[in-house]
Amino acid sequence: MIQFNKPYLTGKETEYIMDAVTSGKISGNGKYTQKCQTFFETNYGFKKSLLTTSCTDALEMAAILIDIQPRDEVIMPSYTFVSTANAFILRGAKIIFADSMPNHPNMDVTKIEALITNKTKAIVPVHYAGVACEMDIIMELAAKYNLYVIEDAAQAIDSYYTGKDGIKKALGSIGHLAAFSFHETKNIISGEGGMLAINDEQFIERAEIIWEKGTNRSAFFRGEVDKYGWVDLGSSFLPSEIIAAFLWAQLENLEGIQTKRKLHWKNYDLRLKEWADKNKIKLPITPSYATNNAHMFYLICDSFEQRIKLINHLKQNEIMAVFHYISLHKSKFYKEKHDGRILKWTDSYTDTLVRLPLFYELNVENVINTLLEF
Ligand SMILES: *Cc1c(COP(=O)(O)O)cnc(C)c1O
Repeated sequence: MIQFNKPYLTGKETEYIMDAVTSGKISGNGKYTQKCQTFFETNYGFKKSLLTTSCTDALEMAAILIDIQPRDEVIMPSYTFVSTANAFILRGAKIIFADSMPNHPNMDVTKIEALITNKTKAIVPVHYAGVACEMDIIMELAAKYNLYVIEDAAQAIDSYYTGKDGIKKALGSIGHLAAFSFHETKNIISGEGGMLAINDEQFIERAEIIWEKGTNRSAFFRGEVDKYGWVDLGSSFLPSEIIAAFLWAQLENLEGIQTKRKLHWKNYDLRLKEWADKNKIKLPITPSYATNNAHMFYLICDSFEQRIKLINHLKQNEIMAVFHYISLHKSKFYKEKHDGRILKWTDSYTDTLVRLPLFYELNVENVINTLLEF
């Protein structure tokens, strides 16, 4: 059987975990946490990065940092994971969902301005499948209306955006804040895990405090203050060194992991083109301003019925393919709170998008050959 996902281990994870355990420092913010954070700051240009226990946590930190108050409005796509919205709802915000693009699940940036009111506090673009949203337009709107931009970059590690200035920027380095995930279904993993990237310097000091349960412990251990105490709101957002040690083994191998995933992705793309056309199925597109980090290979079926047939055909051949998000504006939890606008493209991805297996050790030929029989 070919699973949808199989977590890849580089082989060094247990060695580094053992090192963390025997060193006697297993709580957070030790040697491995520092190594990982420095890696991100150096390679992707985040001004500051803080490991968290999940991307969900990083988003919750972001909502606290931008000081979301009850009834503030936050604009985000409806075609996303619940955590994108929950983080802001926990602070009392109202979510204003924007529709996806006709040719990509990412938020349609041309629809955002009409949703901005005097209550709008932030825009949360989600880089679906690791493909950049059109960030120039989002950042221009944010500057014009004085809003914060928090990138949900959960799927977007090692992916880039090239704007009008021609400069290639890592996703997560453009918004004021960004959240990443190292959940076992992502490219780089630590079981559960995440990271907050901070690009607007005004947030760095407070982020460390929120991260450390509302105390200034980080500054204390650096010798910057002579006692530490409760100075702000906060929670326990930092992961243990055991998690960071696992993550470090993955980061050391980031290039190898990415090369392999991209190879699988290209294979799918090349070999399925003709077949897809014939079946009126659409393959993923990568806009000229974006890169592909091979987080996900998805198909957009011609109809809901075709998707059922396709998933069943694969299942009969022992291959697991899965659909993805159910529009958040139609969810049990939020449908009564939604303002009633119809989000046509979001709903179409809910019905027709299917994700194919994509992981390091995948036998991609097997999946392709089975699809070609459909
Ligand atoms: C995976 C994912 C999350 C949640 O990540 P966790 O680390 O599991 O909290 C949030 N948003 C998006 C878009 C995701 O894909």
